[in-house]
Amino acid sequence: MENQVIEQENVCLFCGNDLQSLSKPNEMVCVFCDKKELAKEICVENHYVCDECKHLDAKQIVKTICLKSKATDPIALAMEIMASPAIKMHGPEHHFITPAVLLTVLANLTNDREGLEAKIELAENIAMQSAPTCSWHLGTCGAALGASIFLIVWKGLDPKEQTSWDEGNLILGKSLQRIAQLGSPRCCKRDTYIAIEETVEFLRENYNIKLNTTEAKCNFSLRNRSCKREDCIFFNLKFALV
Ligand SMILES: [Zn+2]
Ligand SMILES: [Zn+2]
Repeated sequence: MENQVIEQENVCLFCGNDLQSLSKPNEMVCVFCDKKELAKEICVENHYVCDECKHLDAKQIVKTICLKSKATDPIALAMEIMASPAIKMHGPEHHFITPAVLLTVLANLTNDREGLEAKIELAENIAMQSAPTCSWHLGTCGAALGASIFLIVWKGLDPKEQTSWDEGNLILGKSLQRIAQLGSPRCCKRDTYIAIEETVEFLRENYNIKLNTTEAKCNFSLRNRSCKREDCIFFNLKFALV
């Protein structure tokens, strides 16, 4: 249903920019599935989305972009995913974005992508079964849960076991503490950046894994009615998508 609305709005499912008709059909490669087709319209950034991929939902887009990505920068990859208009401003898909992005960049960093698809699907199942709705009304943010979901999948942890319990709660606690310090309700983008940054720091401290991240410059300020704007550390109007 949501994707039908997006199609009617005539915007690119990859980046949200306007679509424009081509004067004559041109062979283009779909940004999601690499299929070559004669395109009748592309977006102003030259993205083409094939007829089949126009129906991808939010979770399929997270998975498709991750499985195609060679990125080792989790912030850049999260921003690429969140630019799709299929990813709502607020929503439980953010509980899945954090682990999917982190699993992907670690696979790329170590050049070991074997099993990545299964790991991303496991993260999706955990996120959607255990954190299927936003939890801001419970006084907490589910985006932080993405950090512990990542650890469970990445290390094959069993949360019933002591070490797993400790690590999961520690990484979640660090993310929530920073969310409390920097946030206010209803910004899944900010809390996703925070959960990713805290996990990157956790991996550096505990596993000597160094992931280079770009500074998160939020480009969703104009789309989010709850944005704290100048009071948010990620605010930067010149990056804002209209
Ligand atoms: Zn586009
Ligand atoms: Zn496609």
